[in-house]
Amino acid sequence: MANKVEIIPLGGIGEFGMNCMGIRYGDEMIIVDAGMGFPEETPYGVDISIPNFDFLEEYRDDLTALILTHGHEDHIGALSYILRKFNLPVYGSRFTLALAEKRLEEFRMLDDVLLHRVRPNDIAEIGCFSVEFIHASHSLVDCFSLAIKTPLGTLIHTGDYKIDDTPVIGKPYDLKTLAKYGDEGVLALLADSTNSTVMGRTPSERAVIPAFEEIFDETPGRLFISTFSSSIHRLQIIFDLAFEFDRKVCVLGRSMQKNVEIADELGLLQIPGETLVSMGDARAYADNEICYIITGSQGETRAALWNMATSTYKGMEIEKGDTVVLSARIIPGNEKNISRLIGHLYKRGANIIEEKRRLVHVSGHAAQEDIKIMVETARPKFLVPIHGEYRMLFRQKEFVKNHVAGYTDDNIVLIENGDVLELDEFGARVVEKHELHKTFIDEESLGEIEYDVVRERKKLAYGGAISLVVTIDKSTHQLAGEPHITFQGVAGLEATNGFASEARQAISEAISEMKREQIADKAVFKENLRIHLKRFVQKEIRTKPVIVTTVVEV
Ligand SMILES: [Zn+2]
Repeated sequence: MANKVEIIPLGGIGEFGMNCMGIRYGDEMIIVDAGMGFPEETPYGVDISIPNFDFLEEYRDDLTALILTHGHEDHIGALSYILRKFNLPVYGSRFTLALAEKRLEEFRMLDDVLLHRVRPNDIAEIGCFSVEFIHASHSLVDCFSLAIKTPLGTLIHTGDYKIDDTPVIGKPYDLKTLAKYGDEGVLALLADSTNSTVMGRTPSERAVIPAFEEIFDETPGRLFISTFSSSIHRLQIIFDLAFEFDRKVCVLGRSMQKNVEIADELGLLQIPGETLVSMGDARAYADNEICYIITGSQGETRAALWNMATSTYKGMEIEKGDTVVLSARIIPGNEKNISRLIGHLYKRGANIIEEKRRLVHVSGHAAQEDIKIMVETARPKFLVPIHGEYRMLFRQKEFVKNHVAGYTDDNIVLIENGDVLELDEFGARVVEKHELHKTFIDEESLGEIEYDVVRERKKLAYGGAISLVVTIDKSTHQLAGEPHITFQGVAGLEATNGFASEARQAISEAISEMKREQIADKAVFKENLRIHLKRFVQKEIRTKPVIVTTVVEV
């Protein structure tokens, strides 16, 4: 048996989102998380990406389980896609699996998947791995760090975390269990880097309470609070304050309603008295008696807040005198949409409170001093920064090097998606590198879109397209009519400037010079036509449109 552990990230390293990692020993491999991402290719019609799970094909026989650290979309959003390819048993907390079930239901896969609900400090024996679930604090509830015991040593995977000593719901981060592993010896710590550029400690989830108290106290009219539907601590604070300040709460937006329902059912969210009201009932209350919790803090154009700011949402609109609180951070890539949303809200006369103006949001991720606590408690032989853009991975490395004794370039390892990091008694090294193209998801059909399709769309967007149809006589292999040329979105070309007729002529001449067998082989002929037209186009207009050639035989 090979005496090494392999760490193979499929996503989440060097980018925000799509967290997914394989951990392999011998011929057994577990997967930690299967998240979705929000790609920058949105102008080309794709809003969602997932890791390239086809890459796991070569490990098909080795895969034994999928373990979920927590229920954020960038950790469970690709669940149905990976399980459709590899039907693995799934381990996660009650809340994580409740969210996961919702996703599987949408894909009608609920009956086909084995879900193992685990609690903090449960230990799952999965082949040669033994996994302890360590209670972690983060912006949502029921989160885990993982202690993964392998025959070669223990790996700690932090998941997403911050060291919150006073969370609103549940216990603080379980440093005691972590310290136990630290004492026994940890081979490698795979640690969240999202907030590694931020100094100090990340404030507790409770830190937003004073600002919210003031807002509830001062707001004369209707109060709209937009936050992530998964930020259960934040929702609890809003419910509690609404009760205290005699406002009813109405929840708007599908994901928010669903998450409130799940958290309420599991007893994680404590909704005081008769605080929660339906949208119909909410309209009966005076402006200063109601508070709406609403989706759309990222400026999503399908969300309730956007609709309310630009047109109507089920008959409701943002009006003069309303106060809108954006209680969320800006996810990279959403800056423009959020800015547009705020513009629309101002146009309607709303008062807007955002993170920059009041402490209405705290991060769920470890800042530098949290990272220090993590590393000093786990005391790993190797530190491997994960979860974040490359800049953040790098900054975790720099910070730990400069602030925690015993860590140098030799035992902090930076890896990238598609790397195979090998750990053994001699050290840690990247032994293979794979270029992993992400897979895109079509939001309408929820089907996969190949990377090449989006690359083609990009080319179309930059250069437009020219289409050439050539009709050939099957028996003589000669032109049976004029070539037909059309173009769309090509700069410098208009229907009237004679390009099409000149191109037609050039192609006809090229064909007349071709040998019979060059035409008889359709594939060769098509490619030749494409090259001829491409040369002609580049000579004439110096752009690079996509060229599509079609050969019709009559
Ligand atoms: Zn998270």
